[in-house]
Amino acid sequence: MDLKNHLLNLRHVNHSSDLFYLLLLLLSKPKSNRSCVLSSQKLKENKNTKARFERVGLFSFQTLSTMKPHKQIKDWGLGLTTPLIIAGPCSAETPEQIEQICKEMKEENIVPQLFRAGIWKPRTRPGSFEGVGEEGLRWLEIVRHHLNIPVTVEVGNAAHVELALKHKVDVLWIGARTTVNPFAVQEIAEALRGVDVPVMIKNPMNPDLELWMGALERMYAVGIDKLAAIHRGFSDAYDKRYRNKPNWSMPIHLKREWTGMEVINDPSHIVGRRDGLLEVAQSAMNFGLDGLMIETHHDPDKAWSDAKQQVTPARLKEMIDSIDFKQPLENMKPDERLQDLRRAVDHLDDQLLDILQERFAVIDQIGAHKREHHLTVFQSDRWKEVMESRTQKGVKKHLSEKFMKELLYCIHEESVKRQEKQLREAEAVKK
Ligand code: PEP
Ligand code: MN
Repeated sequence: MDLKNHLLNLRHVNHSSDLFYLLLLLLSKPKSNRSCVLSSQKLKENKNTKARFERVGLFSFQTLSTMKPHKQIKDWGLGLTTPLIIAGPCSAETPEQIEQICKEMKEENIVPQLFRAGIWKPRTRPGSFEGVGEEGLRWLEIVRHHLNIPVTVEVGNAAHVELALKHKVDVLWIGARTTVNPFAVQEIAEALRGVDVPVMIKNPMNPDLELWMGALERMYAVGIDKLAAIHRGFSDAYDKRYRNKPNWSMPIHLKREWTGMEVINDPSHIVGRRDGLLEVAQSAMNFGLDGLMIETHHDPDKAWSDAKQQVTPARLKEMIDSIDFKQPLENMKPDERLQDLRRAVDHLDDQLLDILQERFAVIDQIGAHKREHHLTVFQSDRWKEVMESRTQKGVKKHLSEKFMKELLYCIHEESVKRQEKQLREAEAVKK
């Protein structure tokens, strides 16, 4: 089949993609009837889209200049008191499928706090199942009827937001492929201006904390204050143990930056397979994340998307029962023993800081000496020797090699910067 026919066959799965039309137009003969029909059709669609966006307020654009700085966003969050369990299929497929999942959840006595279902599916390649669209939103009534719990769906643009709100979806989430794109996030934010609905934002595909934070900030700036983050892992070209590598430092960093930000772990998209889900979910609870989103289907092998990673409601129940949910310490007074240990750490940290202060004082003296003798700041032999000898010593003291290397890079970088700054300042005085 040639490329043009292949694209025409794909029309039913990807008819809204501009790239698709562009390719089709390019492959059509110039000025042929087909290209005229397609372009006028596209023009009409654009007008409709514009009218739709105007209705949801996309063109009443405001700048982010009024946005509060990071530190003031410390009280964000849904206000969870227990870990939030979100479960449901990767995609809504049929009303019967939704009903069967709900029935099995009830039978197994595993009713999540929030039911998830993808309605519009962002697929990496065209030709895969791209979601049932608006009619699937009607089926979510089945969930309310059987389980009486709120529902959440993914939105990827303003039109999705409008439809989800029209069908009274309780919570929206923004997917990883959308979080990477500030234009799309802003479009969604504008569609949500003045709407009181909780929004959960998945981490971007790439491990970029700023993008993740930026998406949360864009929502906050339009008045969405019930926000949570979802940690679904990051794509990695080399590490094939996971579908998306967890990079635990990212969700932890987010919680460190914004105290009170709830981060829900999504082991399904991290692992990409049924085995290993439990281990990742347990790690998330150990780290102190605030909930789990687990894809659940009554017949996972026959699921229309993400078949390998979905679990049955019975397995979901087994998993949840075997997870050791830690006590949330946030609002609890720590016991005596913990207080003692923390005091010991405080004291050791003080000593560590004194030693660092002393070390940098010596570094400054070395800097002065190098300046006098016209030596370069960076000496690669010395760096190699410091790195190797300290790493070996650290490993003997049961510190990991990775930690030692990161620590030494960090200290060395600061040393080099200080000495270089000294040099510049001395040169400025000479001039
Ligand atoms: C999903 O939740 O089904 C999904 C598409 O997830 P992500 O955005 O994490 O890839
Ligand atoms: Mn999925």
